[in-house]
Amino acid sequence: MKKQNCSFCGSKKDETRLLIAGIDAQICDNCTEQAYNIVVEELDKSIPPKANDSNNFVFPNEMTPKTIKEHLDSYIIGQDLAKKYMSVAVYNHFKRLNHKGIDSEVEIEKSNILFVGETGTGKTLLAKTIARYLNVPFTIVDATVFTEAGYVGEDVESMLSRLLQSCEYNVEAAQKGIVYIDEIDKIARKSDNPSITRDVSGEGVQQALLKMLEGADVLVPPQGGRKHPEQQMVKVNTKNILFICGGAFAGIDKVIARRLNTQVIGYRSEEEVEVDQENILQYINHKDLKSFGLIPELLGRVPVLTYLNPLDKETLIAILTQPKNALIKQYTKLFELEGVKLVINPDVLEYIAQTSIELKLGARGLRTILEAILTDAMYEIPSQDKIKEFVVDMDYAKQQITNSKLSILKAA
Ligand code: ADP
Repeated sequence: MKKQNCSFCGSKKDETRLLIAGIDAQICDNCTEQAYNIVVEELDKSIPPKANDSNNFVFPNEMTPKTIKEHLDSYIIGQDLAKKYMSVAVYNHFKRLNHKGIDSEVEIEKSNILFVGETGTGKTLLAKTIARYLNVPFTIVDATVFTEAGYVGEDVESMLSRLLQSCEYNVEAAQKGIVYIDEIDKIARKSDNPSITRDVSGEGVQQALLKMLEGADVLVPPQGGRKHPEQQMVKVNTKNILFICGGAFAGIDKVIARRLNTQVIGYRSEEEVEVDQENILQYINHKDLKSFGLIPELLGRVPVLTYLNPLDKETLIAILTQPKNALIKQYTKLFELEGVKLVINPDVLEYIAQTSIELKLGARGLRTILEAILTDAMYEIPSQDKIKEFVVDMDYAKQQITNSKLSILKAA
């Protein structure tokens, strides 16, 4: 007669609740449970995460804030702090998504992000790069187009229409997407006194944004614009949508300085820490944004606040040359496709960066300036056979800029 013991732990039949018999062995309920847990754990490790399927987003095991930042580093120059904050916020956001379903009394709140920094410093680029990395639906909206319901303009819900459009109306995917709201500073309250007049494009819009940023079921007009009664609506839950807001907040430095009480050079703040007058933005906090005109309820829903530095000459040169798809790499490739080696002298790179600063064009201006310098060559070269190398030196660059429409700006 067969032994009535569990072949794994040796327990006798009467010591178990259940003993399952196989051909030559038995297993008890306890060992079955343990074996099941081992199987789940091992398979979890070996099955590649389906990170590319935004319908079914699974947090890739190898993703950490550090790996996210490393990815950002290959596209965005400098802005280390913003990249760090963004990496942690995004990591926590997706942790939170995966944490759902695990029994817990602690509900992790959303980590919507607010970037403060001059125009052209990389705010949109950061948001765009992260969305591409995570392969989730992404859209950029301009806060200035929104007005309070009932006025001329767009309803805030239309930002979700754009998110839906970006993923061919896949609601599941959109619900895990990222929305970048640009120019959030333009919907600041116009006056410190909230009750004087109606502020249809300021405070009203901020109020309308609250529910959406926090997470709610929102009825969205699929084509965007204004909601109207006959239109069929799509229900989108925003609980897992990550909102990233950005704005230049012109003049915020004065607000910060006032708070720090450092108008006089060399002053020390309350904590007796020397204040770096050159880069006052690093001290920004939610209080300053409230003074600027964002309502506290809105600020409470964008808990991650960080800033981007203005771009100096060295950073602009690095932007021209270093990122994976740097402009110089792109133009070099274009010339290479014509069989021509493009050589741009180092002093020309400096000149381009300096011109962009002088014209107050920031990083966006780099392309405009390069176009002004290289368009003639790109026009001529395809119809000339003999050229194997094209060298851009200072004389040529200066002459091209003088002949271009940029010279008007330079003279101004
Ligand atoms: P913002 O949203 O802050 O106004 P963008 O992110 O739209 O600025 O930047 C405009 C362009 O300038 C980008 O497309 C990018 O080519 C370039 N750029 C700006 N900042 C950086 C940076 N830190 N690193 C690399 N490229 C940058």
